[in-house]
Amino acid sequence: MRKLTEKKIVIASHNDGKLREISGLLVPFGIEVTSAKALGLDEPAETEDTFSGNARIKAHFAAKNSGLPALSDDSGITVDALDGAPGVYTADWAETPNGRDFPMAMKKVWEFLEEKNAVAPRTAAFNCTLCLAWPDGHDEIFEGRVDGQVVWPMRGELGFGFDPVFLPDGETETFGEMDPSKKHAMSHRADAFKKMIDGCLS
Ligand code: IMP
Repeated sequence: MRKLTEKKIVIASHNDGKLREISGLLVPFGIEVTSAKALGLDEPAETEDTFSGNARIKAHFAAKNSGLPALSDDSGITVDALDGAPGVYTADWAETPNGRDFPMAMKKVWEFLEEKNAVAPRTAAFNCTLCLAWPDGHDEIFEGRVDGQVVWPMRGELGFGFDPVFLPDGETETFGEMDPSKKHAMSHRADAFKKMIDGCLS
C-alpha cells in the first residue's frame, strides 16, 4: 500500500458537512488541507452505481486537476427494508430545483418505509468509501460502515444530511443529537478513516 508522504492534500468535495468532518479528522496528522470547492474545481458527474466507483471518479478528477493527492468520500445510507435504497443515490433523493432538501428526502425514506409496513427496528447502515488518489493515477480505497436504524420523527439539529433519522446500534441519540466528537469517533467515516490511517499514514 502506498504511504502518503505529501504534506498537503485536496479534499475532493463540495459538501460543507463532509469537508468539516474530513478536515477535523486530518488535523492530528499535520496535513495541510484544501478542497475542490476552494480551488474552484468542477464537480464531476457520479456515474457509477457503487460507492467505490464514485469515490474513484471524484478523487482522480481532483488529483489530476490540482496536481495534489486527493481524498474523496462517497457515502450514503442503505435501508434494509428498501432493498438498500437510497444507497449511492442518497444525495440525489434530496435534489430539488432549488438545491438539496434533506428534510424532504428523510420524509421520503420514512414514507416508503410506511408503504412497506416496515416495523421497528427499521435497520439501516451508513456507508463511507474513501479514495485517496495521486496525480500519477495510483489510488487506495477504504470502506467503513456503522449499523443502526431509521427512526421517525427527525431528532437533533447537529450533523448534516440524514443524521437526524439515524440511530446507531447501542445508542439513545441519533447522529443529529449526538455531540460531534462522539459521532466522529464511531461513524462510518471514522471507520474508513482508521483504515486509511493504518494503511497510508502510520
Ligand atoms: P455523496 O457521497 O456526495 O454522493 O453524498 C452522500 C450523501 O449521503 C450526503 O449528501 C448525505 O446526505 C448522506 N451522508 C453521508 N454521510 C453522512 C453522514 O455522516 N451523516 C448524514 N448524512 C450523510
